[in-house]
Amino acid sequence: MKKIAVLTSGGDAPGMNAAIRAVVRKAIYHGVEVIGIEYGYNGLIQNQQRTVNIGDVGDMIHRGGTMLYTARSEAFKTETGRQEALQHLQNEGIEGLVVIGGDGSFRGANELHRLGFPTVGVPATIDNDIPGTDFTIGFDTALHTIIEAIDKIRDTATSHERTYVIEVMGRDAGDLALWAAVAGGAESVIIPEKEWDLDDITSRLLRGYERGKKHSIILIAEGAGSGLTLGKEIEKKTGLETRVTVLGHVQRGGAPTVNDRVLASRLGAHAVSLLLDGKSGVMTGIEHHRVVTHPFSHQFDTKQMSHNELYELSQQLSI
Ligand code: ADP
Repeated sequence: MKKIAVLTSGGDAPGMNAAIRAVVRKAIYHGVEVIGIEYGYNGLIQNQQRTVNIGDVGDMIHRGGTMLYTARSEAFKTETGRQEALQHLQNEGIEGLVVIGGDGSFRGANELHRLGFPTVGVPATIDNDIPGTDFTIGFDTALHTIIEAIDKIRDTATSHERTYVIEVMGRDAGDLALWAAVAGGAESVIIPEKEWDLDDITSRLLRGYERGKKHSIILIAEGAGSGLTLGKEIEKKTGLETRVTVLGHVQRGGAPTVNDRVLASRLGAHAVSLLLDGKSGVMTGIEHHRVVTHPFSHQFDTKQMSHNELYELSQQLSI
C-alpha cells in the first residue's frame, strides 16, 4: 500500500486532530502517502482532498475540533453517492481509507468495505456509544468540561440553597450523564437506559434537604428527556426553587485531555497498521487498556453495554 486517505465524519469530538496526526505520521513512517479528505463523505463525493504531510499535522495534537472539517452526508447514503466516492478514491490511486467518527460514520465505512474498498474505523464521539471499545475519543474531554461546569454550579447552588437540573449531551446514550454524576457527586441521574419516576427524584431531594443539604444537583441525559421540563415538574411538585442549565455544545469543544490524546494516538496508528496488514471492514478500540480490533458488524449487532454497576453506585453514594 502506497497511498491511503483519512476523513472525519459525523459529530466532531476533541481528539479527532490527534487521531488524524497519528494516522498521517504512522503512515509516513511506513513510507505511505496520506490524502486528507475534507468534510467527511461529502468531500469524498465532491473530491475535496489534499496531500497531508508531516508538518501539516504539527501543532494539532492539543486542538479541539477537526482540521479536516466534518459533515453529515445524505448523498453517501445512496448507492449513486457511494459509487461516485469509490470512483474518486480509485482515480486518485488511493488504496485504503481511515474513517474517524461515530456509529453512523462506521455504517458508511462498512458500505465502502462491502464495495471492496479497504476501510477501517477509529471511534471518535463524545457520546461513548460504540460497542467494541470501552471508550471513544472525545468522551474524557467532554466529561472534564461537564465536571468543571458542575463544580461551578455547585458553588452557586450552595450559596443560594437551590436545586439545579443540568442537561448533558450523549444522544441516546447515558454515559456522559452517568460518569459525570459519579464524578460530580450529583444527587440523582436520569439516563435513557434506566427507567425513572419523578416521585423517586423528588423524595430523594426532600430527604436531602431535611437532613440539612444546602443544594441538590440532578443530571439528565438529553436522550432521557428535557432538563427544562424536568426543572418545572420538580418545582411544581416540591415548591423548591429549581434552576436549569443546558450545557449544549461547550461539551463538544476544547483541548483534548491527556487520555483522549493518548487514545487517539494509539487508535489512529493502529488503524494504519490494520490497513497495511490487509484488513478491512474493522474498527479499532480499547478494551481493558489494550488496543483491539472488531469487525464493524460487531458494532451493529452488539447491544449497549450495561450501566448497572455505575448506576447503582451513583444511587448508593448520593443517599
Ligand atoms: P456519527 O458518525 O457521529 O454517528 P451520523 O450518524 O450523522 O454521525 O453519520 C455520519 C454520516 O455517516 C452520515 O451523514 C452519512 O453520510 C454516513 N452514514 C450514516 N449511516 C449510513 C448508512 N447506513 N449508509 C451509508 N452512510 C451512512
